[in-house]
Amino acid sequence: MSKQKTAASTIEKDDLIVITGAGGFIAGALTRYFHDQGFTNIRAVDKKPLYKWYQRVPGVESLCLDVSYRDNAIRAVEGAREVYNLAADMGGMGFIENFRVECLRSVLINTHMIEAAYQAGVERYFFSSSACAYNVELQQDPHVRALKESDAYPAMAERGYGWEKLISEMFCQEYTAERGMKTAIARFHNVYGPYGTWDGGREKAPAALSRKVIEAKDSGNYVIDIWGDGHQTRSFMYIDDCVKGIDMIMHCDDLNATPVNLGSSELISINELVSHIEKVAGLKLERVYDLDAPKGVAGRNSDNTFIKEMLNWEPSTPFAEGIAKTYAWIDQQYIDRKAGLSTPAGDH
Ligand code: NAD
Repeated sequence: MSKQKTAASTIEKDDLIVITGAGGFIAGALTRYFHDQGFTNIRAVDKKPLYKWYQRVPGVESLCLDVSYRDNAIRAVEGAREVYNLAADMGGMGFIENFRVECLRSVLINTHMIEAAYQAGVERYFFSSSACAYNVELQQDPHVRALKESDAYPAMAERGYGWEKLISEMFCQEYTAERGMKTAIARFHNVYGPYGTWDGGREKAPAALSRKVIEAKDSGNYVIDIWGDGHQTRSFMYIDDCVKGIDMIMHCDDLNATPVNLGSSELISINELVSHIEKVAGLKLERVYDLDAPKGVAGRNSDNTFIKEMLNWEPSTPFAEGIAKTYAWIDQQYIDRKAGLSTPAGDH
């Protein structure tokens, strides 16, 4: 087992940390996390205008830059000691099945960001990969065999989004192998929590279903439409576990250039997910299944053997706990929006 290291035990509090995608869900939470740990020199970057960011963290330099352009990537990483690249054109199944070109074009982000980071002498570079990089043929059964890191090859990734992740992982590995830059690669499995996309077409199942339950409650029409037959299974990682895992993976030298699963291993079907949300909301809805809607692979779970071995840690927030906090946040957004207050939008 490697010793657990984090930014707090590795770099100085005034070293520059650059985080891209920071107007979005996970990178926004990561920015808040480093800020709360006492880091005083953080640059947050996103192509969205600042008023659309989910979180604006006080004292953080926040820049609106599209880092799929070389010059912007160079500007973004200037002076950085560490770079966390989480910018990507992404969304839930509805988005990644219908906008494959946009997903593939995210390859420009990592291509320019990693080269700019290398040229700027950045010490460590983090890339956010995804469970969608795994071979889809291993995910046809809802009674899943959890995916371990070696299951990405032979490659048959999710078309578009998953292939972009695989090729960008390879960029990281070759920058380490040929050029000696330290890189870290985490394969996230469905992350959820407050301050994430909950409407607009890019939202993922926990947020989308929470919103639908809230809408049903509000309208009095106690019906919910569910994509697929509800038997699809997934694991869902709470955002606090995700940012902690990113920090530990980034600073573990034994994981240099090595993809590692970052996900919960608590397997939940979409039907169970709806039941959890109904419980939080205190109601029961009639379920209508849309079998033609995008539903992704039949089943997917994270095999956490490797991360436990390397870090003596794995994401552990129980789903029931995390979804209660997520639901409460979305409920408030819904109320605020109805009252005419401005709430961050899910579009990019
Ligand atoms: P998100 O959509 O909330 O955040 C991504 C952010 O990147 C957005 O704010 C977007 O405006 C920004 N962005 C897109 N293109 C950009 C560009 N060219 N320049 C600058 N900014 C740009 O998504 P998220 O859920 O926070 O995901 C963050 C990362 O984690 C992504 O790389 C995603 O692929 C990966 N990931 C997320 C999940 C999940 O469950 N949320 C699962 C697997 C992988």
